[in-house]
Amino acid sequence: MDNDLRDAAAPQDGPSHDIKPLPAARVEFDPDGRLLSACDEFLRLTQYEREDVLGRPEAMLLWPEDRDDPQYHALWELLRSGEVVQRELRRMTRNGQELWLQGSYDPVLSEDGKVTAIRLIATNVTAKRRQATNHENILAAISRSTAMVEFAMDGTIIAANANFASLLGYDVDELLGRNHREFVAAEIVESPSYGAFWNRLRAGEFVQAEFPRLARSGRTIWLQASYNPVVDAATGRPTKVVKIATDITERMHQNAEAERLALLDPLTGISNRRGFDLALAAALDDFKRGREPISLIFLDVDHFKSFNDIYGHQIGDRCLRRVAKAVERSVRHPESLVARYGGEEFAVLLPNTTRLEAARIAEAVRAAVQGLGIDHPGNTGWGTVTASLGHVTFEAGRDERFHTATELVTAADRGLYTAKRLGRNHVADAVDPRANEPFAVFRILPGDELFGPEPESAAARQIRRSATI
Ligand code: GH3
Ligand code: MG
Ligand code: MG
Repeated sequence: MDNDLRDAAAPQDGPSHDIKPLPAARVEFDPDGRLLSACDEFLRLTQYEREDVLGRPEAMLLWPEDRDDPQYHALWELLRSGEVVQRELRRMTRNGQELWLQGSYDPVLSEDGKVTAIRLIATNVTAKRRQATNHENILAAISRSTAMVEFAMDGTIIAANANFASLLGYDVDELLGRNHREFVAAEIVESPSYGAFWNRLRAGEFVQAEFPRLARSGRTIWLQASYNPVVDAATGRPTKVVKIATDITERMHQNAEAERLALLDPLTGISNRRGFDLALAAALDDFKRGREPISLIFLDVDHFKSFNDIYGHQIGDRCLRRVAKAVERSVRHPESLVARYGGEEFAVLLPNTTRLEAARIAEAVRAAVQGLGIDHPGNTGWGTVTASLGHVTFEAGRDERFHTATELVTAADRGLYTAKRLGRNHVADAVDPRANEPFAVFRILPGDELFGPEPESAAARQIRRSATI
């Protein structure tokens, strides 16, 4: 009998030949559940001798706690009424070990339709079951330590664990039925990349990255997360997406703080060269897209080497700090950036600033530095600390190819050089070298009236042309 069953389950030639037949255990019961017969495989699995089990109820193989389970009694009611029942059965071997059987109970009917016996054919699935339990335990362990959430393919939250819910400041119940996009900033949701992200998931692609999400408090939290589409074996299409996330908000804030510090000059506390370069690149991008001019001022402290020589580097440092403050105070332009470009040189980036405004700001800075009144005997002709300034403005709508950071910096630098040549403590304007006008440098003498109420063109005319490079 045993062999017959094995033969029946034996593999056929062909594509399924790698499916191993499982030895089947066969038992027969009377309608009350007492064992009438048991095959060797069944005895082997349960570790009983035949005489131990014959005539005894099947319940002897159950775990004590399962014996009074109403479901077990309901099973036998079904069988006695002639129904075929397939189940995964948890049984206990004679040695008290767990045995899982995948079984099919098949009532045997007499000619007048009465159940005379019940046959059970079962296979041992303990190993598979243990593996499944192991997976469940692993998942439970992951779930305890990480945040997990599941989405339907339209982004609806269909499951979430308590960790995930508490990350966002909700209870699990409050999250269910809500949509992924409700926790993503509007500008991201509206961007094409958000649609593309979901298209990748719908295509079954695994996506892993750091994502900003909106918590209930309105605060942005950062999640290091992987989105894992779960593909239906039958259709090959993803049916849901499991997201596993860890909160990296703290780390992101630390990174942001480190980033911020990396862009600052430790001596003066203002932006450093790196910060300036980044801001300039961004401002030039905006400038190329918009219609507003962009200006840049360069400042160099006059005869600063001799200041150090006379007073020493520490006093020199203090002087640079005061110069930095003076520059900041006198710029006060909403989008401006004041940076220490290097040594005793400073830069002022002025997006959306016309040439005339830039000239006014540069003159205000020059006056402010001189106004500090710091003694500087080595600064020939002036006697106190002064600075020379060059500025340049790119007008929008001109040939964009030449509107590079290098061009802007070089032009401002040339203006600065001219201011030095003019006797220091001067401001010189380097015209956009690619403008139609010849490249010229304008000088603003300290006494020039730049601050009157005249309209721009009238005031611009007062900027006296003094030199040509
Ligand atoms: P010029 O008017 O032509 O600009 O003359 P200068 O002496 O200012 O120019 P130079 O380039 O010869 O010298 C710049 C000096 O700035 C040299 C250096 O000692 C000083 N310096 C640069 N960085 C620092 C700093 O961080 N602290 C101090 N105390 N001095 C600095
Ligand atoms: Mg210098
Ligand atoms: Mg100098």
